[in-house]
Amino acid sequence: MSAAAPRWDVLIVGGGPVGACAGALLQRAAGTGRRALRIGLLEPARPAPPAPEAALDARVSAWSRSSERILTTAGAWERMPARRVQPYERMCVWPAHLPARSPDALVFDAAYAGEANLGAIAENRLVQCAALEAFEAAGGTVIAAGFSGLAIRDPDVQVRAGADVLHCRLLVGADGARSRVRDALGLAVREASYQQTAIVANVRTERPHERTAWQRFLGDGTLAFLPLADGSSSIVWSLDEASARERLALPAAQFEEALLAASDGVLGAVRLCTERLGVPLRRLRAERFTAVRCALMGDAAHVVHPLAGQGVNLGLLDAAALAECVLLAHRAGEDPGAARPLRRYERWRKSELAPMTLAIDGFNRFLAHGSGPLAQLAQHGLAWVNRSETVKRLFIGQALGLTGELPAAARLGGAPLS
Ligand SMILES: Cc1cc2nc3c(=O)[nH]c(=O)nc-3n(C[C@H](O)[C@H](O)[C@H](O)COP(=O)(O)OP(=O)(O)OC[C@H]3O[C@@H](n4cnc5c(N)ncnc54)[C@H](O)[C@@H]3O)c2cc1C
Repeated sequence: MSAAAPRWDVLIVGGGPVGACAGALLQRAAGTGRRALRIGLLEPARPAPPAPEAALDARVSAWSRSSERILTTAGAWERMPARRVQPYERMCVWPAHLPARSPDALVFDAAYAGEANLGAIAENRLVQCAALEAFEAAGGTVIAAGFSGLAIRDPDVQVRAGADVLHCRLLVGADGARSRVRDALGLAVREASYQQTAIVANVRTERPHERTAWQRFLGDGTLAFLPLADGSSSIVWSLDEASARERLALPAAQFEEALLAASDGVLGAVRLCTERLGVPLRRLRAERFTAVRCALMGDAAHVVHPLAGQGVNLGLLDAAALAECVLLAHRAGEDPGAARPLRRYERWRKSELAPMTLAIDGFNRFLAHGSGPLAQLAQHGLAWVNRSETVKRLFIGQALGLTGELPAAARLGGAPLS
């Protein structure tokens, strides 16, 4: 690879919600002054922000309190128009053998934890665009090119992007589940298909969503209704691949009937208001999150089942943790790509992720899918959780993303390291 300008202190590959947020956190904290870091971000497919009156996208996520705080610290949250963001106050989870409004259905209420809400539902594109704007407003540079290869000549990392070769001291791979950075580094992954597909769409329902996230464990999958800001709901219906194919092929009216039955009519009749998307589900975990002068984050490092609504929230915690490790090193006069801050980042995030991924896979195996004795025990155990205030508070803390070792940006009032 030939050498050429320019040189970046940090080069982020991928301007999805996680990469863009990492860029904004770093740029806001260390983008000015005598020892300012020069930060570039490669993104070949930057989307346009949703037009003010446009209908809501079908790809939405539940953003936890920790994500809200991190995105606020990054200067992104306030850029998102409130009319497209729906805070939700309750989560109602129930197994197939109970009616939704049974006293044994598991209800997590924000009020239990003295919180106004449990998080907010917003379009992925809205958050991504807000984070990219915050990054640029703080002085960061978005480069409209894709990563295609690298060579490491410590302390220099050479990155091929389109026809150019860029140089940096720290390379961050935030380029999603099919990360080319991860492949180029030769980092091994543990990966398996869940052999399930999530059907995603927005729907209008006969009854109001009550600012509640509804989730039914069906035995052959899960069905979630997430409340949206325009009164509609986003559905995520995870099923084995063959059943999902069947449902996706149904005419709209028959699909709506099937949805009504699967939801046990909890929100009354259902009408599709977007296309149905089928997303194959798999789990993935990179065995290492770092290499010499390189780090992975977000879906490039780990992909989890969507049933707990944690994927991007874990990714934003990665972004805040890496920013914190790098900024602390930079302030102590160290190189941002030095081994010590990267080792700290990797240890920190791996230890936080391990119990979470185990729990998510357990929920999928015993609550969402499965009819054996263990599954039945787990499904009946929900009623026990519902009766224990302590366990419920623990679950609410998890939903808010406020458990474990949090980066400063995710703690209350947490401006990172300033
Ligand atoms: C059905 C479903 C529902 C979900 N719901 C939730 C939820 O409620 N809550 C939650 O927390 N998570 C949820 N998730 C998970 C969440 O969508 C992902 O974790 C999140 O999108 C990952 O963000 P990311 O920025 O790491 O990657 P991505 O969003 O995949 O972004 C990667 C970026 O990298 C860019 N890129 C790719 N290749 C290159 C390259 N070679 N060079 C440069 N750039 C490149 C892409 O253009 C893209 O912009 C859900 C997932 C699914 C499938």
